Amino acid sequence: MKHTTQRKCPHVPHNPDTMQTVCELCSAEVFNDPSTGLWMTQTETVPAKPTPFTSGEVCAMLKIDFNLLRRQKLALIELKPGTTVTSEQSAAAEGLLNILDAIQDQALRSGEYTEKQIFG
Ligand SMILES: [Zn+2]
Repeated sequence: MKHTTQRKCPHVPHNPDTMQTVCELCSAEVFNDPSTGLWMTQTETVPAKPTPFTSGEVCAMLKIDFNLLRRQKLALIELKPGTTVTSEQSAAAEGLLNILDAIQDQALRSGEYTEKQIFG
């Protein structure tokens, strides 16, 4: 097995128009890896890319107050057709909508989706 090291230098190709050139930062022989589009030496690896999202999936990092989320859930569980929505339930729904907004915003920032795919 070839000994590989994790890529440390970001490698700036001296001549980006060729497939193999010298890095302007570390002077190593680098080539453009067609699978990643990154400039690498022959013995370097890059950390495995996370599994690409399948359509309609997003991995979001959210700052969530779980005490609040629990109360919001409880408030909404009490929702019954034909009954008046309480102010607590309304606030809970609004709070959960904010979470959905945050998920949509992150999906957009991820660059994996177009604005149309997310917001319609
Ligand atoms: Zn370099």
